Amino acid sequence: MADTENRPTNFIRNIIDGDLASGKHASTHTRFPPEPNGFLHIGHAKSICLNFGIAQDYKGLCNLRFDDTNPEKEDIDYVNSIQEDVKWLGFDWDGEICYSSNYFDKLYGYAVELIEKGLAYVCFLSPEQAREYRGTLTEPGKNSPHRDTSPEENLALFEKMKNGEFKEGECVLRAKIDMASSFMVLRDPIIYRIRFVHHHQTGDKWCIYPMYDFTHCISDALEGITHSLCTLEFQDNRRLYDWVLENISIECQPQQIEFSRLNLEYTVMSKRKLNDLVVNGQVEGWDDPRMPTIAGLRRRGYTPASIREFCKRIGITKQDNMVEMGMLEACIRDDLNENAPRAMAVLDPVKIVIENYDADKVEMLSAPNHPTLEMGERELPFTREIFIEREDFRVEANKKFKRLVLGKEVRLRNAYVIKAERIEEDDAGNITTIYCTYDADTLGKNPADGRKVKGVIHWVSASHCIEAEVRQYDRLFNVPNPAAAEDFATTLNPESLVVIANAKLEPSLAKASPEQGFQFERLGYYSRDNKSQSLTFNQTVGLRDSWAKIEKA
Ligand code: ATP
Ligand code: MG
Repeated sequence: MADTENRPTNFIRNIIDGDLASGKHASTHTRFPPEPNGFLHIGHAKSICLNFGIAQDYKGLCNLRFDDTNPEKEDIDYVNSIQEDVKWLGFDWDGEICYSSNYFDKLYGYAVELIEKGLAYVCFLSPEQAREYRGTLTEPGKNSPHRDTSPEENLALFEKMKNGEFKEGECVLRAKIDMASSFMVLRDPIIYRIRFVHHHQTGDKWCIYPMYDFTHCISDALEGITHSLCTLEFQDNRRLYDWVLENISIECQPQQIEFSRLNLEYTVMSKRKLNDLVVNGQVEGWDDPRMPTIAGLRRRGYTPASIREFCKRIGITKQDNMVEMGMLEACIRDDLNENAPRAMAVLDPVKIVIENYDADKVEMLSAPNHPTLEMGERELPFTREIFIEREDFRVEANKKFKRLVLGKEVRLRNAYVIKAERIEEDDAGNITTIYCTYDADTLGKNPADGRKVKGVIHWVSASHCIEAEVRQYDRLFNVPNPAAAEDFATTLNPESLVVIANAKLEPSLAKASPEQGFQFERLGYYSRDNKSQSLTFNQTVGLRDSWAKIEKA
């Protein structure tokens, strides 16, 4: 029986509940079937959470199956990255990994069965001719001249195809269904084609490869899948899915159910387009932190829990829609607000000299790692020279500016109140140093000093800070739906990455482990890069939703 505590409800789970209640199935068996032709993206996470989530909640099984019928585009690196991403998201598959290519012998056998039944034939129409014969949405197609070849002859021809006696493209095996069907997919679809290419799993054993529609349903049935969940664009293909399984000798008849795919604003969600970005050097790779890939989000600082939470919040329906980026970001912000330790970093430093603080004095102040949760404390060295953010100082300002102003006071976070006394500028008029005094009686979060100092700014010790590269990210595309553009690459945001080579960080951050997330106080959430040898932090997300602002601009 299902574990009903805290589990999502949706129309697919309702169907499953019905199937279990009626006794149609005793348990559930789902699968996640990626084609290994790229890294997984956040859309795949939706499918992963759905399929593996059902297995978890119903105590059923979920297979990881590589749908590998397209050897030209596939690669073993993708096979490996996909496994890593599924595991990182917190899921595990039942038993061994499955490959559609494991079933090539069986698939061949089922194709032979269709030929023997007079339900498949070898067709020699050229691709152009085949297109012409197919008809259109408003006009029926025409029968191929090869449609009525006898089963015996077709068996011999198919055997020759398998033995490499025809050239690539010279012929194909087609299912004999209905050239007048209102479903184009039923107009004698191709089920096998010739490709003289090496396959990452089967090597050079085959020069004919089964098509997706023929392979997928049979793979599902062979694995005993009960519910085959896929995205809406396969709605019509369901007729072919059912036709194949009804016409071959196989017991299992999985039910295909379609749901809407995830579309996310300001990014693209197709492996082909993402591959273009990688190949054309527009990003640094599949795991570039600007990419909507699982590996990219991971490097950016997203946690598995935040991605699972996102998938829960968007839900599963049949409505096509575009999800706002702010929704994804809210999930990681909520997670890090709760779980990330606080730290201080100065990205655009200006120096402060505290003239009444001894030059050789170093005080180890302590600061809580989290404002509300028990996460321990860290040491913050305080010295005569410190850095603050350049934009946190003004020579003159009105009352709304609650930071440091010449002649006024501000509180240094976790430290003292200082007062700006005078400044030093270079020839170009840039401030090089701000000279201040501090009040030794003002240490601590809520000192009883009676002072009305509203502003609090962050800082680091100039002599004890460490330097790191900090990468600031903005949206990868300038338009909400780049996929709709004629050339989506023209909508790339040229300022999506800004590298700060020498940000100044409090020394405790030297111990940050790869992928560990922090709130840099007053700046946002950052995560230590998992690839760079040197100390590098990626901006994960800002403290507030910045997307609403963009839309209006
Ligand atoms: P892409 O166009 O990105 O290559 P795909 O559908 O071809 O996507 P597959 O590797 O075939 O990618 O997908 C594996 C599974 O993930 C399929 O069941 C597919 O329906 C699902 N999936 C892919 N993209 C999305 C998405 N954006 N939202 C939800 N599910 C998706
Ligand atoms: Mg695909």
